[in-house]
Amino acid sequence: MTPLRGQFATIPHARATIAASFSPAFPMSGDTIFGKIIRKEIPANIVYEDDLCLAFTDVNPQAPTHILVIPKQPIPKLSDATAEDKELLGHLLLTVKQVADQAGLTENGYRVVINTGTDGGQTVFHLHLHLLGGRSLDWPPG
Ligand code: 5GP
Repeated sequence: MTPLRGQFATIPHARATIAASFSPAFPMSGDTIFGKIIRKEIPANIVYEDDLCLAFTDVNPQAPTHILVIPKQPIPKLSDATAEDKELLGHLLLTVKQVADQAGLTENGYRVVINTGTDGGQTVFHLHLHLLGGRSLDWPPG
């Protein structure tokens, strides 16, 4: 898939937050493996990137297409998001839609999942949207 860049990168408050969170004056709080991927400290198969978010294939895919879309601003989990994150959250959803389209999933459909907290099955505490597609998915989930 051809990486796309910069198409949605227009949210001023998010830019400021990102700059702050990556400044040496603000050591990485709540850093995870995804923080290392954002900073390119470890490799990932990145399929989309802009100022606000990054999309890369899951290392342990649960479907023929399994892509994670994450904000560069490290919100630990959905339940930590606030009204200030409204535009960023909308941006993440629209990015999933665009990445799904690029992956050829639009016609047959796909699933978008946000595991949240322990009972939600979240294992990496940096908010991420799972994009799953390429096969028929069961419901309800386990
Ligand atoms: P969660 O269980 O938190 O909803 O999802 C975390 C996801 O991150 C899992 O699907 C897991 O396979 C994926 N993951 C964990 N570590 C890495 C990594 O280092 N690289 C990539 N590409 N995916 C990872």
